[in-house]
Amino acid sequence: MAAKRIFIAGHEGMVGSAIVRQLQQEKGVELVTRTRRELDLVSQADVTTFFQQEKIDQVYLAAAKVGGIYANNEYPAEFIYQNLMIETNIIHQAYVGGVKKLLFLGSSCIYPKLAKQPMQESELLTGILESTNVPYAIAKIAGIKLCESYNRQYGVDYRSVMPTNLYGKNDNFHPENSHVIPAMMRRFHEAKLAGDQEVTVWGTGKPMREFLHVDDMAAASVFVMNLDNAMYQAHTEPMLSHINVGTGIDCTIRELAETMAKVVGFEGKLIFDGSKPDGTPRKLMEVTRLKRLGWSAGTSLEAGLERTYEWFVNAAESLR
Ligand code: GDP
Repeated sequence: MAAKRIFIAGHEGMVGSAIVRQLQQEKGVELVTRTRRELDLVSQADVTTFFQQEKIDQVYLAAAKVGGIYANNEYPAEFIYQNLMIETNIIHQAYVGGVKKLLFLGSSCIYPKLAKQPMQESELLTGILESTNVPYAIAKIAGIKLCESYNRQYGVDYRSVMPTNLYGKNDNFHPENSHVIPAMMRRFHEAKLAGDQEVTVWGTGKPMREFLHVDDMAAASVFVMNLDNAMYQAHTEPMLSHINVGTGIDCTIRELAETMAKVVGFEGKLIFDGSKPDGTPRKLMEVTRLKRLGWSAGTSLEAGLERTYEWFVNAAESLR
């Protein structure tokens, strides 16, 4: 039997690269990737040509313009335009090119700002979004609705997964613009090297967050893509089809900081800087749907942080 040709859009990003590593372990698959220079996903003409020329069986749509609160605020037009274009081009041209199976990767920011915690899939479109990332969230919601609409009208099998906060290899470790795990890891590491007696953590330490290792996200993505149709349909609805992916467990930022100090080997004091914003008090995914389908996360926070720290130290050294 010919190998299944799988296109991973966004294979250079944190999630896409983890999906590539996961799929490399599978037999009978041929992975197709394109760098940004080889294929501009925002260009309808280029994406059309790509799907016409390449015979693709499956698509993982992990390409997106992403960024923190600062970037989302500063470049809202780029966020909504590029994400809508990438999704529309890929989903439509995949359909035209005869691709029967596609997995779209979204984000937990699709849910309303005041969604009930833990956030169930059914909270989608029940309230007002967090104002800072509305353009990005709207594009991600459009991606889910594109998949559902193509399924209903054209009988394809396009599924969506919504990850919680992810971390791991290839994350963005920028000191100010990154998310809490890479920011803390870098700051604690540098404090350890400098022999500092204390390190600053933003906010009160009280907010609660859920974190998923990106390798678990990749495993869940392949799991959902490969679920047989009857099983998938028994646990989803045609117009409420997305599946949350998380651990179902959260911790306080203080607990995260304590675990981080242990993993990094920083022995000084933790100072909580209450002048920095806490953000939303809690953000936790309801993952019952995924568990019923038969998948749950296997990496503990501490083990995941250890693996990430090992990679970070090597990457930091190779950059010197
Ligand atoms: P959020 O989940 O959208 O709020 O995104 P973040 O990952 O940026 O922040 C999560 C929580 O971690 C917030 O309560 C922050 O105040 C807290 N936090 C503590 N230290 C840091 C840090 O160094 N960087 C960031 N980004 N957040 C931090």
